[in-house]
Amino acid sequence: ATEQKMVVRIEDISVRFGAHQVLSGVTLTLKQGALTGLVGPNGSGKSTLLNAISGFIQPQQGRIFIGDKDLSGKAVHELALSGIGRTFQIPQLIEDATALENISLGLLGQRPGRILASIFRLPRLVQQGNDDLHRSLAMLAEVGLPASAISTPVAELPLGLKRIVEIGRAVVAEPTLLLLDEPAAGLNDEERLQLGHLLNNLKKRGITILVVEHNVPFVMQFCDDLALLEAGQISCHAATSAALPATLLDYLNHAPEQSK
Ligand code: ADP
Ligand code: MG
Repeated sequence: ATEQKMVVRIEDISVRFGAHQVLSGVTLTLKQGALTGLVGPNGSGKSTLLNAISGFIQPQQGRIFIGDKDLSGKAVHELALSGIGRTFQIPQLIEDATALENISLGLLGQRPGRILASIFRLPRLVQQGNDDLHRSLAMLAEVGLPASAISTPVAELPLGLKRIVEIGRAVVAEPTLLLLDEPAAGLNDEERLQLGHLLNNLKKRGITILVVEHNVPFVMQFCDDLALLEAGQISCHAATSAALPATLLDYLNHAPEQSK
C-alpha cells in the first residue's frame, strides 16, 4: 500500500440469484484505514456483498474502486493481487497443515505460475529460511498466535485461533482492503476482545477493513463506522464516534446476538 489516497468505493452493486434479487444498488464508501462494521438481518445479503467485492461472484451490476483503480469484473486471484484479502464465515483452512503453513499459503497468489511448485515445496518451507518463511513467521507473531502453532495442525486449534490463522493468511499478502465475514462468531468474550485488538493493530498498518459482525458491544467498541444492510440496500451508514441515527440504534437494540 502506498501513501496515496486509497479510499474503497463500492458503487451500485446488484446481485440476483435466479428470480431472487439479493442486492439492489449497494453503494458504500469505506474510509481508508478505518474499520467499518456491516450489520443487518440474516439473509440480507452481507456475505453476498463480500463475495461480490472479492470476486467470488460476479454482480449483475456495479463497480468497485480502490483509490482511482477500477477493479470491477476482475477474477478472484486478480483481486487478491490488487489488494483485496478476505476470510470466510466458516474458516477455509487446510486442516492437516500447520498454522504457519496455512499463513504462508497467503503468499502463493503473489507467485503466478509457480503455485503448484510452491505447494509441493511447502514441507521444505520450514527448513529453507527464505523470505516467505520470515514473512509468515512474522505474521504468526503479529496476529498473536502462540509459537506452538508453528508445528500444530490447524485441526487441533480452537475456533478462535483458526479465525486468527485465516486473518494471518489474508494479511500476509499485505491487502489494502480486508473483508471479514463474522470473525467473532462462536468466540468467547476474551477471544472476541483479542480479535478486536488485533483489528485495531491492522488498522494501524493502514488496512481498510469491512467486517460483518452481530455482536453489539464488539461493533460499538471497535468499529469506526457502521453500515446497515436491509432488503439488499444500505439503509444507514454512520460513524460510531457520534450519536448513532435512530435507524441504526433501533436495529442494534433488536439485533440477534449472532447468526446461525
Ligand atoms: P447474510 O450473509 O446477510 O446472512 P447471504 O448473503 O448469505 O446473507 O444470503 C442472502 C440471500 O441470498 C439468502 O436468501 C441466500 O439464500 C441467497 N443466496 C446467497 N448465496 C446464494 C447462491 N450462491 N445461490 C442462490 N442464493 C444465494
Ligand atoms: Mg452471512
